[in-house]
Amino acid sequence: MLIRLLLSLISHIYFLITKTYICENNFFLIEMSTKRYTVTSALPYANGPLHIGHIAGAYLPADIYVRYLRGKGHDVVFVCGSDEHGAAITLQAKKEGVLPQEIVDKYHNINKKVFADFGIDFSIYHRTSDKLHHETAQEFFKTLAQKGVFTKKTAEQFYDKESNQFLADRYISGQCPKCNAEGAYGDQCEKCGSALSPNELINPKSTLSGNTPIKKETTHWYLPMQNHENWLKPWIEDGMLEGENHHDAKAWRSQVLGQCKSWIDGGLKARAMTRDLEWGVKVPIEGADGKVLYVWLDAPIGYISATKQWAKDNDKNWEDYWKDENTELVHFIGKDNIVFHCIIFPIILKAHGEYILPTNVPANEFLNLEGEKLSTSRNWAIWLHEYLEDFKGQEDALRYVLCATAPESKDTDFTWKDFQARNNNELVAIFGNFINRVVVLTNKYWEGKVPAQNSLEDYDNEVIKKLKEFPQKIGVSIKKFRFREALVEFMNLARLGNKYLADTEPWKLKKTDERRTETIMNIAMQIAASLAILSEPFMPFTCKKLKEMLALNNVGWEDAGGKIISDNHKINKATLLFNKIEDDVIKEAIAKLKNKL
Ligand SMILES: [Zn+2]
Repeated sequence: MLIRLLLSLISHIYFLITKTYICENNFFLIEMSTKRYTVTSALPYANGPLHIGHIAGAYLPADIYVRYLRGKGHDVVFVCGSDEHGAAITLQAKKEGVLPQEIVDKYHNINKKVFADFGIDFSIYHRTSDKLHHETAQEFFKTLAQKGVFTKKTAEQFYDKESNQFLADRYISGQCPKCNAEGAYGDQCEKCGSALSPNELINPKSTLSGNTPIKKETTHWYLPMQNHENWLKPWIEDGMLEGENHHDAKAWRSQVLGQCKSWIDGGLKARAMTRDLEWGVKVPIEGADGKVLYVWLDAPIGYISATKQWAKDNDKNWEDYWKDENTELVHFIGKDNIVFHCIIFPIILKAHGEYILPTNVPANEFLNLEGEKLSTSRNWAIWLHEYLEDFKGQEDALRYVLCATAPESKDTDFTWKDFQARNNNELVAIFGNFINRVVVLTNKYWEGKVPAQNSLEDYDNEVIKKLKEFPQKIGVSIKKFRFREALVEFMNLARLGNKYLADTEPWKLKKTDERRTETIMNIAMQIAASLAILSEPFMPFTCKKLKEMLALNNVGWEDAGGKIISDNHKINKATLLFNKIEDDVIKEAIAKLKNKL
């Protein structure tokens, strides 16, 4: 404790001596104390590849957040992995005539690679079929059972006589009672996103045989969620946990609060936490043969087992990341997972004891594609592995567009035309163009050696002052989970650079006023260097390229906004940061999408 206090004090003093210019208000006090964060992204289901809707929902925003936190020197673990249990996987295995393990092995490896190729920088990408996870989930369940958190109940459930098995979740489908769509599953309607129970389905059918199922008795362990409403309600609505301030409830997105409130106001009920299935984490209790943990109990515990594995591999103590009140826990998810992360998982974390609860769950709404809902079954999707193949070296263009159009507060639409326009008119014409001008001119007139900053004029001071404000503005937006806003600010810095050059025209001035031109180019180079640093959370590949171009080493977020590059610093030759995307490429992409239908 004393050591930590001392370290914090030293870092404060160091900061005051070296970087006083950022200390414009008390924000720096909050920001300067390094904190510990546990950041999770929803575990993707290992029965298929990933499309842009997944990425925009739970992975890209988490990656931006984590890259920023790491850049600020915080202690962050960023966990994810494959969700490898549940009825959808066994169902698919049956259809394909293979073992469930074959399905999950295939997609675990595909998805792990695609995330890495797209620059999603998890600390660990674990999997729920791992032994460590089974042990962790079973220990969790046992503790909850011993504490009397569950009620054991025998009830009638749908049963398929022909297939000789109980029909949980995805083994049953019918009409959605909320939106009337056909093909809703026993656990969820994919059309409207409502969480369902099999009994609510209109005209239910077995997805195994197509028959109308019968009802048969079976015993399960239920979580009576209503028993936890007393603390859950003030925790969600006011951020108060047992009378103490836990988090800023106003910082939670309105759709998250709205969904939670409607669940609570609708009356929390008991929900079965076990299933009659072969595939999954076995219920670790006598007399529970043939039963496994409900996948939505088992999957979030996967965050904990992933952290355990990472801690083992990296000589850390996993409990610091899950049981220390000073650690901030943040779950990134899509809106279809809100109830599991804001109600069910917090209930079991708290009921288990010792665990921290999330301080925010910045769930995104849905991303549509060309005006229609993304659909795996209809193949109406842009698959990430196909994008990476078709648009080699253009990972950041997609990261940029998915962040710029992120469904943070409402559903948004991805169109190939918009993708092209944003790439060409923003990345190429604004950011890329500014960098290119600065680097080309420096090489052309000063042999790649950054000219000196001589006497400053009012306009220079104004630009320098503005430049200083950007790192904080961008950082504050990221901390508030407003990634679109943060990206707009980032591009505004590139716009500032372009405007500065357009107003001062150093390429003309060079003929008449060498000293003034040097100063202008020096300031433009400082803007370029800040752009290099600040691009890292959004466009990590571009950041790397740009740092190489500017020969920038050992610079971090705290340097951004200041005079980063010294006079006479030698830079490298210009390379293109972004490529213009031509009409025929976009035509082809649209045709490819439509051909797959
Ligand atoms: Zn529905």
